[in-house]
Amino acid sequence: MPRKKKTPSPLTNLSEKEIEQLRQIDERLHKVVNERRASMPRPAVHAEQSFGSITFRYETVRCGKANCTRCPHGPYWYAYWKENGRTRSRYVGRVLPEKARQVYEEKQRAKLEKNKT
Ligand SMILES: [Zn+2]
Repeated sequence: MPRKKKTPSPLTNLSEKEIEQLRQIDERLHKVVNERRASMPRPAVHAEQSFGSITFRYETVRCGKANCTRCPHGPYWYAYWKENGRTRSRYVGRVLPEKARQVYEEKQRAKLEKNKT
C-alpha cells in the first residue's frame, strides 16, 4: 500500500505523556502474550539424567520477559524432584554437579559402546 509522505503519522503529534501511556499498553500486551506462552507445553528437553531421586534435565527455556530477543535461553540443566508429592525444580546451570555428571557421562559412554557393536 503506497503511503503519502505529506500526511504525518498521528504518532508524531503525541505528547510525552501519551507516548508513556502507549508504552505501558505495549508492556501490558507483552505480559499477556508471555503469560500465554508460559502456559504452553514445557520447554524442549535435550537430555535427561536421573541421579537417585533427582532427575536432571537439559532444557532451553523462555524467560517470559517482554522485549527479550534472546529467547529461548540455554540449554541449562534443571533438577527435578518430588517433595511431599509435588514436583519441585531448581536451576542448576550450564554444567551438572560433579557426581551427576559422572553418572551422565558413563551412561553416554555406555550408549556409544552399545551403538558400536
Ligand atoms: Zn528471554
